[in-house]
Amino acid sequence: MPIITYRNDNFVCETGETVLDCLLRHKQEAPSSCRSGVCQSCLMQNLNGTPPSNTSQNGIKDTFQAQGYFLPCVCIPTGDMEICQPNRDAVGKTIAKILSKTMLNNDVLRLTLQCADVFNFRAGQFISVHRPDGLIRSYSIANRNNSSGILELHVRRLPGGQMSGWIHDVLIDGSRVELTGPSGNCFYIPSDIDGGLLLIGTGTGLAPLAGIVNDALMHGHNGPIRLYHGSWQPEGLYLIEELQKLAAKHTNFEYVPCVDQNALDFMKAGRADQIAFRENANLKSWRVFLCGHPEMVKSARKQAFLLGASMSRIYADPFVVSKPFDSNIMI
Ligand SMILES: Cc1cc2nc3c(=O)[nH]c(=O)nc-3n(C[C@H](O)[C@H](O)[C@H](O)COP(=O)(O)OP(=O)(O)OC[C@H]3O[C@@H](n4cnc5c(N)ncnc54)[C@H](O)[C@@H]3O)c2cc1C
Repeated sequence: MPIITYRNDNFVCETGETVLDCLLRHKQEAPSSCRSGVCQSCLMQNLNGTPPSNTSQNGIKDTFQAQGYFLPCVCIPTGDMEICQPNRDAVGKTIAKILSKTMLNNDVLRLTLQCADVFNFRAGQFISVHRPDGLIRSYSIANRNNSSGILELHVRRLPGGQMSGWIHDVLIDGSRVELTGPSGNCFYIPSDIDGGLLLIGTGTGLAPLAGIVNDALMHGHNGPIRLYHGSWQPEGLYLIEELQKLAAKHTNFEYVPCVDQNALDFMKAGRADQIAFRENANLKSWRVFLCGHPEMVKSARKQAFLLGASMSRIYADPFVVSKPFDSNIMI
């Protein structure tokens, strides 16, 4: 069975076990969050060349891939590996100062940060926030990059959530946090400006989508831009006025708030993805952006494809939250 060498110790990896599960089973400290190859919180470097499976390098920048960086949460070793934590300077660590905290609804906080260094990002990508004790979580970037180094995040407080609780309760204006990234391919590319853009999000899935809408409009996108934001109750929605004003200003932009229960007169009743696909049943040559609840993203990706969208034009960020070790439950 493969041996994993980590911090000068050797650990036997069981058949079919991922590198991350092996380390956690041996009570090793190893940061992680989504544990499904999305958030990149667990990023490590293989010191013996290319890691065994290609999927363990999916979504990682080419230059990092070439240096053996990989995601241990989806890497099942086929031979011995010697691994280490990434050199955070090499993977683009930056320090950011909290500029402001504003509640957007009862649970969602708008956090604006000023990066100390030049930070190249596209609205819709995500960054990783590092708590001083090593906890890492991903948050999507909700604003356009105007080269000012300012980032806007929408952070929902989860009951018992470690990072979201810390961000809501402990960080204050002027606090400094460590970030890495940006990562992710869910952003607007300024091409095909007459084509349609369909954006569907639940909860804070609105963060990347609002950024993408603003980015597309600033680039002079001419085609229809339709944003469906869903929540269980009206109170779960946010940025309503901002988006209504944006829609009033740009005739090609439509904002459709959707709720499962107690819809107000300007909202649609039902699930955002179902309403969006009912109203946009031919997605041939459309770009589709899906963010938020992992189950919604998974089923909407399939549905968008069945309605004609090409897989290469479906961009998705499932907001996978951490799950307890040794469990298959997706929380
Ligand atoms: C690509 C990406 C982008 C994201 N963008 C955003 C964003 O823009 N905004 C945003 O708010 N979030 C976003 N997320 C989610 C975010 O990364 C965090 O997962 C989220 O904030 C919760 O982290 P936490 O540390 O507060 O909660 P955790 O402490 O990780 O807990 C998560 C939930 O699971 C429960 N839980 C944890 N451990 C256990 C256990 N052992 N047993 C039972 N229940 C448990 C907790 O009670 C909590 O409800 C994104 C995720 C990804 C992957």
